[in-house]
Amino acid sequence: METIKIKALRGGEFLIKEQDPMNIFTPEDYSEEQLMMKDMVNDFVDNYIIPNKEKIEGLDLELTKELLTKAGEFGLLGTAFPEEYGGSMQDFVTNMLLTECMSKSGSFSLSIGAHTGIGMLPILYFGNEEQKSKYLPSLIEGTQYAAYCLTEPGSGSDALAAKTKAILNEEGTHYILNGQKMWITNGGFADVFVVFAQIDGTQFTGFIVERDWEGVSTAAEEKKLGIKGSSTRQVFFENVKVPVENVLGEIGKGHKIAFNILNIGRIKLGAGVIGAAKLVADHAVKYANERLQFKKPISSFGAIQHKLAEQAIRIWCCESAVYRASNDIRLKEHASQEEGQTLSQALLGAAEEYAIECALMKVWGSEVLDYVVDEGLQIYGGMGYSEEAPMAAAYRDARINRIFEGTNEINRMLSVDMLLKKALKGKIDLMSPAMAIQKELTSMPSMAKAEGKYGRELEMVKNMKKMFLMVAGATVQKFMTELEHEQEILMSMADVMGDIYVSESALYRAIKISETQGEEKGAIYMDMARIYMDDAMERCSLNARRTVCSWAEGDMLRTLVMGVKRYAKYIPINSKNTRRRIAKAVIDANEYCF
Ligand SMILES: Cc1cc2nc3c(=O)[nH]c(=O)nc-3n(C[C@H](O)[C@H](O)[C@H](O)COP(=O)(O)OP(=O)(O)OC[C@H]3O[C@@H](n4cnc5c(N)ncnc54)[C@H](O)[C@@H]3O)c2cc1C
Repeated sequence: METIKIKALRGGEFLIKEQDPMNIFTPEDYSEEQLMMKDMVNDFVDNYIIPNKEKIEGLDLELTKELLTKAGEFGLLGTAFPEEYGGSMQDFVTNMLLTECMSKSGSFSLSIGAHTGIGMLPILYFGNEEQKSKYLPSLIEGTQYAAYCLTEPGSGSDALAAKTKAILNEEGTHYILNGQKMWITNGGFADVFVVFAQIDGTQFTGFIVERDWEGVSTAAEEKKLGIKGSSTRQVFFENVKVPVENVLGEIGKGHKIAFNILNIGRIKLGAGVIGAAKLVADHAVKYANERLQFKKPISSFGAIQHKLAEQAIRIWCCESAVYRASNDIRLKEHASQEEGQTLSQALLGAAEEYAIECALMKVWGSEVLDYVVDEGLQIYGGMGYSEEAPMAAAYRDARINRIFEGTNEINRMLSVDMLLKKALKGKIDLMSPAMAIQKELTSMPSMAKAEGKYGRELEMVKNMKKMFLMVAGATVQKFMTELEHEQEILMSMADVMGDIYVSESALYRAIKISETQGEEKGAIYMDMARIYMDDAMERCSLNARRTVCSWAEGDMLRTLVMGVKRYAKYIPINSKNTRRRIAKAVIDANEYCF
């Protein structure tokens, strides 16, 4: 596979360092091979899923199983798995791209995603050779199906509080498993379950459990708000005899499996929602062009153009960040393998390195999709509320993404927590840049105008970072370890982090397009980056002020608020005209065209 030589930053370092935009991976860099694979998944979705959509959404699980087998025949279940088990082991970016394409298949994307992701990956990454050889080939073929059982009625976000118990029998041959899992995707038909349980009530551990074993049963299908064609059930374990050979990974280290798999799941979700959002944006512009009111297509109205433009802006900017992070993971994985790490160690380590970006992309992607479906429904007017049109289902289906793979609240808190822990361990130097900013604040602000073609924009991103470092530095100093109890502040800090990452990724991508394809071609992309950044600057400044106002007083408060003002200073662009240009591009193309 063609590789692009890019020097990545370490995870979280985007907050303190700049990169050469030409050194950023963007979707414009997909190789021929990646584009061919993309076409293959698109063809699969068009030929096998779309014609069966109604039946799938009606929860025809036999059909879902058949289609998973069909996907196996096309090699679509093994793209993240080595050849020795029947896979084709594509790189990380390719797998993200394929996830994006598959997400256009509605509920089926959940079934295939849970099977190949949270269901199968723990076996690849944490299984021993025997376990991998036993389970992976049939799962990759699609003759068996997988599910992941972590959540319980009493433990969701607090996953480690699971009560399911595993007790070693007297002979030392089997663990006796008892407990109840909830919300298990593919629960209705999975043959293989990755289950987490406490050995002797204290050692959180992973197990591979087969559906056919005595004592495994499932409840009826959950009646859900959306993704109605995805099987979701409770799974019960009653004195299930699990052979000791089926312990997954190390005893007492189940949290490593659970959390590491989630890192990958989060960025994968970020890629998936981009695909779903593009589909919704496509429907929205087609409808807006067709629907006449006051003798004109509704796409001719400024209010609708604003929505069409904003859908495109948010999708494109978020996509820029998702693939930048995905490629950083790919590079890290590659480098680790070259240093002699096994595939599992390398990929897990890479996803862990960029766990902050993974968490942010999960939050951003899911919220972009929610925005896009909400405005998509609005563009459809009354038809948006009808099951006859695609928006009602899209609206319901989108909502789950803010809940699973760690709720967005948990992911926001995690992203800040992980950053501070990295700083504490000396893996990222937040202190020196924070001190430099304190010094800068005591000096006179420079009146010099930002130089260069993209000077204004590059300066804006730099200032967002300074604002973050100033506010975060002072806030951490104030609360120290007590910061974890100030969740409102953590939410605001995470929002600033995400806005910085997405703004910078979009800007770098727009610059790269302008520099490689010419400024004329790059203009519309620069428009999108600029709109996003202007709005992001307003949000960052609000979040920064909210943060400091929640604890600082007197001179300290005045100094920090002045600092926020100083870094939030920019001359806004004409957002109305800019959005109109973006909307025009989408309206003329009659599809999401970026
Ligand atoms: C359709 C569907 C499919 C799913 N598939 C699977 C699957 O295949 N396997 C699996 O194991 N699980 C699965 N889940 C479970 C999912 O991961 C959990 O629902 C999710 O982690 C949230 O847990 P919870 O529902 O218990 O909510 P809770 O943890 O009870 O959270 C409720 C609310 O409180 C907030 N909250 C919780 N703790 C904190 C805190 N410390 N600070 C601030 N706010 C907090 C949350 O953000 C949320 O807003 C699925 C869920 C659904 C709905």
